[in-house]
Amino acid sequence: MTTVSPWDLDREQLADLLDGAPKYRVDQIWKGLYEQGVHPSELTVLPKTLREELAEKLTPALELATEQRSNDGATVKQLWNLSGGASIETVLMHYSKRSTVCVSSQAGCAMGCGFCATGQAGYERHLTVGEILEQVVSARDAAHPRRLSNVVFMGMGEPFANYDRVVQAVRRLMTDFEIGARKITVSTVGLVPQMLRFAEDEMQVGLAVSLHAANDELRTELVPINKQHPIDDVVAAAQLFRDRTGRRVSYEWAMIDGVNDRPSDAAELAVVANRSYAHVNLIPLNPTPGWPTTGTPKERIREFASDLEDRGVNVTVRANRGTDIDAACGQLRANHEVEVKLGTGRRN
Ligand code: SAH
Ligand code: SF4
Repeated sequence: MTTVSPWDLDREQLADLLDGAPKYRVDQIWKGLYEQGVHPSELTVLPKTLREELAEKLTPALELATEQRSNDGATVKQLWNLSGGASIETVLMHYSKRSTVCVSSQAGCAMGCGFCATGQAGYERHLTVGEILEQVVSARDAAHPRRLSNVVFMGMGEPFANYDRVVQAVRRLMTDFEIGARKITVSTVGLVPQMLRFAEDEMQVGLAVSLHAANDELRTELVPINKQHPIDDVVAAAQLFRDRTGRRVSYEWAMIDGVNDRPSDAAELAVVANRSYAHVNLIPLNPTPGWPTTGTPKERIREFASDLEDRGVNVTVRANRGTDIDAACGQLRANHEVEVKLGTGRRN
């Protein structure tokens, strides 16, 4: 039996569920959900019978299994159990001027990128809108007294493989949570048809594309879906997104020692980035159990970045967050055991 989370419903659906209740009641429950982050069954302003009725009809989608904090306290990782036995992770990150939640869009991921712990563990299922939004509700609560300012779809899963629910969740973040489009970023492995749809939707939401290689041979090795959606198509979709929204795309590039960090890689990346007026984010590769190759040393990441700058590319080196609790990019696997593959994972 599928259950309904109170955060699955938009306002109209909530009013329908309350079937003829006066408007002030709908307002009370709506405020409880979106201003206080409270399930209607815990709203003491409601009569007891109504609370009991709503407790039966509406079930929270996430059950907290564990919560871990990094040594510096700036990163919090929550592991959730979902109905049907799946589990996911959510990461809250505090920076000096903002607090960002990194949400999951699927339990697992079917894209199979070898260097990513989520990809190594495989695919379970799509998340519902309520499951996505409850991660934000809980992060807002955990961030208190700081204000949760940003939401990034960079947790477990490929957001564009779950396109309709993710876009619905994004719209609800803007309307019901009052988080500005510019504070929301969706990261995709490069599913071209959905990138084109997203561009046509003209939301002012940030789009990050996980590129990692700028020639098709290497990219197909690192990101297998490149076989279906090669680099030229991905770049053309990124250009369309920029034309439609006026926002430039970011290319994500996990720096893998001896694999995609050579001067020739910088040269290829610069051509592609300049062609699509994109920003480049360099992410030091985080260790995962199923991928033996290590990340590029810091010093060489800096050299790679300055090489790109010399070639006219706008580039940022991303700080590593939460590696001590396996909460950094690509490390989320919700406690799944991962088969450790033999081989180097490296191109000779
Ligand atoms: N599926 C989406 C979003 C989730 S992954 C995507 O791939 O874009 C979020 C980011 O972490 C992506 O840019 C991904 O390429 C990157 N990533 C995956 N594994 C990583 C690792 N081991 N080290 C650093 N970044 C990694
Ligand atoms: Fe999936 Fe993104 Fe990991 Fe690739 S990097 S396996 S698309 S979550």
